[in-house]
Amino acid sequence: MIHTRNIQKVYQRGEHARQALQNINIDIEEGEYVVVSGPSGSGKTTLLGLLSLVDVPSGGEIYFKGTEVAHMSESRRNKLRRKHIAVVFEHIHLIDELTVFENIEMPLLYISYSRKKRRRIVEELMERFRLTHLRRQYPGRLDDFIQQKIALARACSSSPDVIFADEPTGRLNSTESDEFLDLFRELNEAGQTIVMATHSSDAARHGQRIIPLYDGHVVSRVTEPG
Ligand code: ADP
Ligand code: MG
Repeated sequence: MIHTRNIQKVYQRGEHARQALQNINIDIEEGEYVVVSGPSGSGKTTLLGLLSLVDVPSGGEIYFKGTEVAHMSESRRNKLRRKHIAVVFEHIHLIDELTVFENIEMPLLYISYSRKKRRRIVEELMERFRLTHLRRQYPGRLDDFIQQKIALARACSSSPDVIFADEPTGRLNSTESDEFLDLFRELNEAGQTIVMATHSSDAARHGQRIIPLYDGHVVSRVTEPG
């Protein structure tokens, strides 16, 4: 579904150039649950930004469902992203002025679904993530774990081809993290493609496959000293 060929990312700050990613070649297939793991600063967020079509690389190619996207116009790329991709972040971006129901419904307003169809989708998701009793509440008053579940339900609502999650358990305690990652596993078992970035080795264990990043490149294996 997603293939990268020698992608690089250089951040230019005045005279200083920082190579955040170099020679990244990865392939993510439909139905996979891939974890990008590595210490802080290793390039996980940068890589997710490229794979999720938010940002473009400084060099190399990215193929999304067969189409090269690194050199495409911004407006075409944005259109492609909105249609196929959803993202969940560590810092949960919900709209405090909208209810739980309305937040989850949001992405569906960009698709020409009837009100009835939207309601059916949102109700199924609230049921699945045990949020139904909170449907009329405002998210700002709910705790981080519940908010992250709402963000995940919202990410699922438009049936994206792939869900990206950048440190989604960063604000959760270990019990909440496990419960949240169980939802990822259930989604993946139902066929959802997921790409998660995390610096937590506990969280990384939940995926099917790990892409280990270190100083901006993919390391094939952790080498033991000596
Ligand atoms: P991670 O998510 O693994 O912590 P990042 O992708 O955020 O890593 O960062 C990788 C490297 O790129 C770091 O050295 C970071 O300082 C640098 N970097 C990230 N974003 C920017 C930016 N917008 N401008 C300049 N440097 C950046
Ligand atoms: Mg990061």
